[in-house]
Parts: sequence; C-alpha cells; structure tokens
Amino acid sequence: MLLASRVWTCLCFMIKKQTRAIIQHQSVKYDLFPLSPLSRHRLSIVKRKVLVLDLDETLIHSHHDGVVRQTVRPGTPPDFVLKVVIDRHPVRFFVHKRPHVDFFLDIVSQWYELVVFTASMEIYGAAVADKLDAGRGILQRRFYRQHCTPDLGSYTKDLGAICNDLSSVFILDNSPGAYRAYPDNAIPIKSWFSDPTDVALLNLLPVLDALRFTADVRSVLSRNLHLHRLCRPNRTDIPVNSSFTKIHRIETPSKIVDQVENCIDNIVTQVQEFDSTKDSKKFKSRIPQRMCN
Ligand SMILES: [Mg+2]
Repeated sequence: MLLASRVWTCLCFMIKKQTRAIIQHQSVKYDLFPLSPLSRHRLSIVKRKVLVLDLDETLIHSHHDGVVRQTVRPGTPPDFVLKVVIDRHPVRFFVHKRPHVDFFLDIVSQWYELVVFTASMEIYGAAVADKLDAGRGILQRRFYRQHCTPDLGSYTKDLGAICNDLSSVFILDNSPGAYRAYPDNAIPIKSWFSDPTDVALLNLLPVLDALRFTADVRSVLSRNLHLHRLCRPNRTDIPVNSSFTKIHRIETPSKIVDQVENCIDNIVTQVQEFDSTKDSKKFKSRIPQRMCN
C-alpha cells in the first residue's frame, strides 16, 4: 500500500513537471498592431524617450577562462565567445544571451532610443554591445565603467549624463545600486544567469509599450518604489507639491486608521444632516442600517 502511494506520488510529480515544461516552452510573441489615430496623436505630443540598458545579468550572462564558480549548467554552449586583451593578457568570455533578448531589442528599438550603460570595462562592454546590435544600428550610444560613479563598493549610473530631461529617461538594470540616485527612473529586473525558460524580457513588453505614451516616466515608475521612499525620507529631487508625491506618500498605519475613521465620521455626519431633510426616508432605505443609528 505504501509502495503504491509512493509510486502514485512520483507519477503525479512527473506529470506536473512535464506539464510545467510544456507551458514554459510555449512560444510567446508580442504582436505589434498599427497605432490608432488617437495613439499616434498622443505619441506626437510626448517626447521620444531613452531606454538605458544594462548588460550583465540583464541582457546577457558571461563567464571567462579560469572562472572558479560555474554559473551556467555544464555543457551549455555559449551564444558567442569574445576574445579580449585585458592587462596584456588574452581572456576569453563565454557569453550567454538572456532568452528572447534579440526579439526584445528588435521591438523596443522601435519605441525608444536605446543606450547601453554597463559597469563593465569598455573593451568587453563594447564587444558585447556589437554582438547584440548585430549590425542593426540600434545600440550606438554606449557608456562604460569609466562613466559610472564608484559608490559603496559598487557603481552607480548617472542617468542625468545621458539625458538631462529626467521625465524622458529610464534604466532597466538588475542591480538596484546602479540606479540608487534615480529610483523613479528605473525598472528592476531579476538577475539572469542561465535559466532557459526565463521570460522576464517578454513580460516587460506590455509596460514598455505603454510607457512611451506617458509625459513623464516617473509618474508610472515611482508607483512601485515605496521602499525607496521609506529609505530616503528627505527627498529633494521631486517638488513636494507634485501630484505623484501626494499620491504615493507613505503613511504610518496609525495615520491610515485616523484617515479611515475621519472618513466614516464624515459619512455619518452627512447621513445625519440628510436625515433632517424631507427626502430622508427615500435615501435612508439605501444606507446600511448601522450607519443610520
Ligand atoms: Mg548587471
């Protein structure tokens, strides 16, 4: 009986695993339909925006000769090998492209000006960008380690140097430290090393498709960054009276309770005032009884 139970459990596990594999390997596509006249008009009145792209663990993952820790499953062939000379030593980089990266670049290059910004050395970053560009001419502006700012043992990327209008520039980067100074101009993405079923780039297409229509990317990208706000209570880069600052102000739980109670008090007051008018009987039937008492 115990054996039968274990066999059944094993069978269920195998079936679930196969089902998951089939689902994950289904081809995914993002159809580009012609824009409506209204959408075309909307695009014509907002600026074309700049999408800044990180390389390592965002668009690709690489390892080089003599690497101690293997991050890619042994036997997985690289998409391309780069031979660069660093400090007079030839080094081979085995580069793996994140799934769907070519399709992703193809699509987003139609929506945005693309800029590569990597904290890697130029000799390596430029070679990777060339390979990803593949002669399409879509990754022409590039920034490297020498353009980063050393900060707490890592590198931050100055988006202001790429585009002085912060309403029109944002970065896609797996390292939050890279955009520490620009949390409202960033889209986080999970670091990628080797998962062949990864669809993070595809999943971003709908939001990137929509973001190009905004007047200010920060009005959307700031909505999910309350943790940044909690860490940095004394922000000075956004006017205090801007609408999205008001909307996304973090309240303490006790303050929220106060607000809810005030709201209920207001409703009860309005009901009581209405109660004294001639139409109160008709209105009263639509109000929960506990509010009328
Ligand atoms: Mg990275």
